Amino acid sequence: MTKETKPALLPAFFGMKCPNCRKGRVFVNKSVFPLGKCVAMVEHCAVCGHKMVNESNNGGGINYALTVCIFFLNILWYWPIFGLSYKDNSFFYYLFTSIAVVIVLQPWLMRLSKMVYLYLFSKFGRG
Ligand SMILES: [Zn+2]
Repeated sequence: MTKETKPALLPAFFGMKCPNCRKGRVFVNKSVFPLGKCVAMVEHCAVCGHKMVNESNNGGGINYALTVCIFFLNILWYWPIFGLSYKDNSFFYYLFTSIAVVIVLQPWLMRLSKMVYLYLFSKFGRG
């Protein structure tokens, strides 16, 4: 092994690992439970000391974008299975289903949006 071996980007990203060394954990808790602390982040990476917490890292805009993405992704499985038509209420059922899915996925979406922000920020910050 060479000294600068880094784990691959995508597994590290989805494993919620440090954007710098891709080994340390970003979030305090491994799972999203307890929900109240689902986005609690460690201040510094335990492995490389990379600063995780940034004042501007709220991920709110990214979270919104992800939510919209989920709505569109829901069409992909909802349409073939249940069908979408403007003649009946199916579009409203689809909307309710999407909202329910988004709410259920929200803890993960919030984490994911923070991860997206963190990875973008680290990349730009380090050049
Ligand atoms: Zn690290």
